[in-house]
Amino acid sequence: RNHIDHATPAKLQQAISSNAFTAPIPCYQSLTDYLAGGGYQFYEQMKASTLDPIEVEDKVFSAGLRGMGGAGFPSGKKWSFVRAESGPRYMAVNGDEGEPGTFKDRYYLETQPHLFMEGMLIAAQAVEAEHIYLYLRDEYPAALTILKREIAELESANIVPIGYIELRRGAGAYICGEESAMIESIEGKRGLPRHRPPFVAQKGIFNQPTLVHNIETLYWVARICREGGEILTSVSKNGRTGLRSYSVSGRVINPGVYLLPAGSTITDLIEAAGGMIQGHRLKAYQPGGPSSGILPASLADVPLDFDTLQPHGSLIGSAAVLVLSDKDSIRDAALNMMEFFDHENCGQCTPCRVGCEKAVKLMREDKWDTSLLSELSSVMEDASICGLGQAAPNPIRLTIKHFPDEV
Ligand code: SF4
Repeated sequence: RNHIDHATPAKLQQAISSNAFTAPIPCYQSLTDYLAGGGYQFYEQMKASTLDPIEVEDKVFSAGLRGMGGAGFPSGKKWSFVRAESGPRYMAVNGDEGEPGTFKDRYYLETQPHLFMEGMLIAAQAVEAEHIYLYLRDEYPAALTILKREIAELESANIVPIGYIELRRGAGAYICGEESAMIESIEGKRGLPRHRPPFVAQKGIFNQPTLVHNIETLYWVARICREGGEILTSVSKNGRTGLRSYSVSGRVINPGVYLLPAGSTITDLIEAAGGMIQGHRLKAYQPGGPSSGILPASLADVPLDFDTLQPHGSLIGSAAVLVLSDKDSIRDAALNMMEFFDHENCGQCTPCRVGCEKAVKLMREDKWDTSLLSELSSVMEDASICGLGQAAPNPIRLTIKHFPDEV
């Protein structure tokens, strides 16, 4: 963050031109290697109109693909909503992966950027998007370098017209991962979430119909188109179908990104991550980022998928799984989550702006005023404009419910 804290425009420009921000670039699949494996053939067929966009949409829809950024909206359906509106249409790719504990998009960007970019071009072609805005979290310098380089490669190989994909850098605001705030930021404004309706599929960038997808969703679009929907529909576990990329961190031996069946439980994830660190016993877990709150070890058999966590007052979100042990204070973890929301809310609406600040104060007390915190949580859930304020009370509610002795 140093460059954000201290840079003047002149210093910033100097740093950019001297490549002061470059990070070590991981080994990733090049355009040459991707093309050698049949890459971009599907997209080229769509461009040449030998593939009907409706058929492609059906293929993605029947594979059961849902948005992997957190909201879980069926991907194929989004395409038909955007196409139903008259053009010009745009596409915005949400690469502003800022939820604490989430790093799966970064993994795909730094390993297989072309798979993701072919998915992006297929989706853009399906809705006849005139321009693609690729919004990237600025704390991912390696991904930024890779994308700059590989977009230039795509342009010089005549796979995309020059300037068709526009790379935009975020500036460290978590709220810009909310799709309408991201659109405001792309338009050059402060990232404030919009009221809906109208939805961004109807009035998005510059009030034009806009298709918004997350990085991992587009990775799956390309895989479904190239390999068939069976890569998802043939996998089932605990009554759930498909695969999910889980970012696993906390008290496990090997934190990392794990691709597992969508019906996997926290027990499966801990096993995949090499087990608990020696001397630690599972006490609780965050199933999908701070917005999902904290669940107790007694709920270790719940499949971590869309919809399965709702009965427990939680959600899968971006599948950022944090494993907590008997050596952790759940109360402190919940406070840490609320401090994050207090710091990152955009301040636009009172229930969230004042609610987060008030909640942090109450949660720093030796003994929580649980009835006041519960009342405050209800107000925030009911009256906040966007998902940040609506979900921010989850850590409070679930900690009061499952860990009353700690508060
Ligand atoms: Fe901003 Fe919070 Fe209101 Fe969302 S809920 S608009 S983040 S103040």
